[in-house]
Amino acid sequence: MVNTPICNFCAKTGVLCKKCKQKLRKGKFTQLEVEVSKAFAKADQKFPKQLQNVTLDRAHRINGSIVLLTRNGKNILENEAIIKFIESEIKSPIEIVERKADTRKTFADFFAPLDILEIDQIYAPPEGDIELKITLQGDPELLRFPLDQLKQIAELISKNPVRLEIKS
Ligand SMILES: [Zn+2]
Repeated sequence: MVNTPICNFCAKTGVLCKKCKQKLRKGKFTQLEVEVSKAFAKADQKFPKQLQNVTLDRAHRINGSIVLLTRNGKNILENEAIIKFIESEIKSPIEIVERKADTRKTFADFFAPLDILEIDQIYAPPEGDIELKITLQGDPELLRFPLDQLKQIAELISKNPVRLEIKS
């Protein structure tokens, strides 16, 4: 069974249990993530083999597309039928970003073919939030998304504010 932010029961029935309702209220996941989880549960019935080890972490709407942060999402990438099915369920094109156990590796894949020169942690007073400054090198034309969207997705991955710099 595919793993989603909401519990299996809720993903299958489409009705949120008490626990999931509470999590939604507390902002542990968003309404969009509930919708995407339901679509994944439906896809799971059609493609149980391909989706069995796939985890949906986060979903985020950017312009007209929905970016999905997944673990082991490679199977979906390689299967046009699954992508089409999920896209028709949520009525948006999807972009899949694969999340690795190591954030740096996730970033390396995500920003490829540009190289990451450095990732600096900047402490921003007074709350002491850590901002990540990511310095990339290469041609920005080759990036998967426009810069402002990259920043949003990078923030979703790292859960920190992100500042991007590109050296050519
Ligand atoms: Zn639930």
